[in-house]
Amino acid sequence: METTTRSLKDHVAIVTGASSGIGLAVAEGLASAGAALIANYHSHGEAADELVERVTSKGGRAVAVQADVSKESDVLRLFDAAVEHFGRVDVLVSNSGIQKDAAVADMTLDDWNAVIGINLTGQFLCTREAVRRFRAQPKDGRPSRSAGAIIAMSSVHEIIPWAGHINYASAKGGLRMLMQTLAQEVAADGIRVNAIAPGAIRTPINKAAWETDEALTKLLRLIPYGRIGEPEDVARAAVWLASDEADYVTGTTLFVDGGMSLYPEFRDNG
Ligand code: NAD
Repeated sequence: METTTRSLKDHVAIVTGASSGIGLAVAEGLASAGAALIANYHSHGEAADELVERVTSKGGRAVAVQADVSKESDVLRLFDAAVEHFGRVDVLVSNSGIQKDAAVADMTLDDWNAVIGINLTGQFLCTREAVRRFRAQPKDGRPSRSAGAIIAMSSVHEIIPWAGHINYASAKGGLRMLMQTLAQEVAADGIRVNAIAPGAIRTPINKAAWETDEALTKLLRLIPYGRIGEPEDVARAAVWLASDEADYVTGTTLFVDGGMSLYPEFRDNG
């Protein structure tokens, strides 16, 4: 994603799950806005390396770092890498997430734990470490008005119940309260905490919902704005939330969903 401003000049940003989908677009957007990038990946090192190559070939700064966000020691190593390579950390986009769908009676405990472990505990581990690092950095020399910005990648399912996805919806519902509680707790430190709630965005996680014409037609019934979202739609929102342009914004979920959360069934008078 190309941006015209360099609103994140001298910032250092960590993006988790930056090797695909939304995380990849967000990482490119932040780098294009001037941030030095720590591009976390879990298992697709080649895609992360290609991202780093694209950013550095345009004169940007980027490093790929493997880490599992559900593991405490990996998360600490991820933040250490930011300090080691770029001296500080100013922005966290905590984006990693998975789905393991099943009707409740068929859902295994392993599938419950895997989704909660990455989508909720992973958010706790990453955001906790960001707060620790932001607090420890001296006020002098900050590139931003805030002491740091955290953006958690939530979902419209932080408010819309989703049958057949109880692990995912529970994690995103929990993330909404995690984000708000954290924002309240650390605002006095000058740390901003927000979430983005994407609707249906064209990425590998939901391929089945858009890859055939039939599936896409069904999906579009849920989207008043009449199109599926693209990862760049989310990336633009993330760049804004990370920057001083959003300096007075904290504790908010920004829905990037083409109106999916507006009860579309009621659009024709209910
Ligand atoms: P995606 O599958 O392309 O990306 C998920 C990313 O998370 C991948 O980069 C993957 O490697 C990473 N990841 C998985 N397990 C990990 C782990 N243990 N440690 C570190 N990283 C790990 O899907 P996406 O659509 O880009 O999803 C990104 C985020 O957006 C997720 O949190 C998802 O819940 C959220 N989201 C997506 C949509 C959508 O429609 N695509 C809608 C709402 C919310």
